[in-house]
Amino acid sequence: MIKQAQVVILGSGCAGLTAAIYTARANLSPVVLEGREAGGQLMWTTTVENFPGFPEGVLGPDLIDNMRKQAQKFGADTRFEHADSVDFSKRPFVIKTSEAEYHADSVIIATGATARTLGLHSEMHFMGSGVSTCATCDGAFYKDKVVAIVGGGDSAAEEATFLTRFAKKVYLIHRRDRLRASKIMADRLLANPKVIPVWNTGVEDVFGEEAPHRHVKGVRIKNLETGEVSELAVDGLFLAIGHKPNTEVFGDQLKKTEGGFLLTRSAMAWRGTATDPGWSESYSNYSTATSLEGIFACGDVVDTHYRQAITAAGTGCAAALDCEKWLESVHNDERIA
Ligand code: NAP
Repeated sequence: MIKQAQVVILGSGCAGLTAAIYTARANLSPVVLEGREAGGQLMWTTTVENFPGFPEGVLGPDLIDNMRKQAQKFGADTRFEHADSVDFSKRPFVIKTSEAEYHADSVIIATGATARTLGLHSEMHFMGSGVSTCATCDGAFYKDKVVAIVGGGDSAAEEATFLTRFAKKVYLIHRRDRLRASKIMADRLLANPKVIPVWNTGVEDVFGEEAPHRHVKGVRIKNLETGEVSELAVDGLFLAIGHKPNTEVFGDQLKKTEGGFLLTRSAMAWRGTATDPGWSESYSNYSTATSLEGIFACGDVVDTHYRQAITAAGTGCAAALDCEKWLESVHNDERIA
C-alpha cells in the first residue's frame, strides 16, 4: 500500500508528538510513525517534575499519552509502525515500514537517542523505580539518600556533581582508574566530599524489594583487577555511560556527527561550522533543517547537550514551524513556475 503525505514524522517522544501537534494544527495532516520504542524515553520514567504546567508532577507515560491524544485531536495519523528503510535521494521521500510505503513531501525526524545501559536484566527491572538514565530528571527524588552513578565521561562527572545537591553520598563507579571527563569537570567532581570514587569496578547486579513499591536497595559490584565481589547499599543507581542516537536507518543520506547524531543548521552553528559548503544557502533560515532540503530533525537525535523533555518538545515545535514554512515556500515556487 502506498500512502501520500505532506509530512511524515518519525518518532513519538516529546519532540515527535509536539511536531505532530503543530503540523496537525497547521492542516498538514501528519503521519506519525511511532517507532519500536513508542513514546520514547519518558516511557521509562515515573514522575516528571520539571515539565512546565504540572505543579504536582506528571507520570512520563501519561504525559506522552496526552500529547498523542492532543495530536490525534487535530488530525495526526499516529501509527505503531517502524521505518525499516528510507530513500531521501529525491522528492517525494520514500519511507518503508512492514505495513506500507509512505511518499512524503517533507520529513521530520524525531527518532531520539537511547541511553546506553549495562545489559543487566535487573537494571531494566528497576528502571524508573530506582534505576535512572537521567540525573537531571530524577536526582531530586534522592534527597539525603545514597546513590551510585556509573560512568567516567563528562555526563557522569556533570550528573554526579548535580546529584551531590540532593544525595548525602554519591558513589562514582567507573571501570577504569581515571575519568575520561574534561579535567576541570573531573577535578571539581573529585574535590567534592560527598563523592566516593569506586575505581576499576563494574556493576554486576541491582537488587531491591517489590513492596510496598518496587525500589532499589543496593548493587553488587566487582573489582575488575582483583575479581573481588562486594555489595554497596544504595537507594538509587544512575547510568551515565553515553547515548546512542537512533540514526542507523538513514545510513549516510544525512550529515551526522562522529557519534551519529544528526546535524542541523542550529547544531552546525553551535559547532561553528554553519558555513559548511555542502549546505544550501537558500535553506539557511531553518534552524532544524538537516543537510537535505525538506528534511528536519529535532529532539535527542540532534541534541548531545540538553536532552530534556521540554527541550525536545521545544525543538519539535521549531521543526514543525520550519517544515510548514518550507512547504509553503515550495508550493509558492510551484505556483510561480
Ligand atoms: P562518553 O564520553 O562516551 O563516556 C561514557 C563513559 O561511560 C566512559 O567513561 C565509558 O568508560 C563508560 N562506559 C561506556 N560503556 C560502559 C559500560 N558498558 N560499562 C561501564 N562503563 C561504560 O559519554 P558522555 O559522558 O555521555 O559524553 C558524550 C559526549 O557529550 C562527550 O563528547 C562529552 O564530552 C559531551 N558532554 C559534554 C558535557 C559538558 O561539556 N558539559 C556534559 C556531558 C556530555 P571508558 O572511559 O572506559 O570508555
